Amino acid sequence: MIPMQFEIHCRDTGPDCPFVARAETVEEVVNMLMRHVRSAHECDWFAIEEIHQAARTVIRGQAA
Ligand SMILES: [Zn+2]
Repeated sequence: MIPMQFEIHCRDTGPDCPFVARAETVEEVVNMLMRHVRSAHECDWFAIEEIHQAARTVIRGQAA
């Protein structure tokens, strides 16, 4: 099985930000982005939820 790498670009979820999360599983890459969003962006609960939804639609998968 070819290892996949997933990535999420923070700016694809809304904020104008150069952060890119990369991981080998969808769960991990989403978690990584959410950790970054909570520590780097001032978001209320509602915005966090919206970014979480957006993250899942903008995940890019590629063979590593
Ligand atoms: Zn960001």
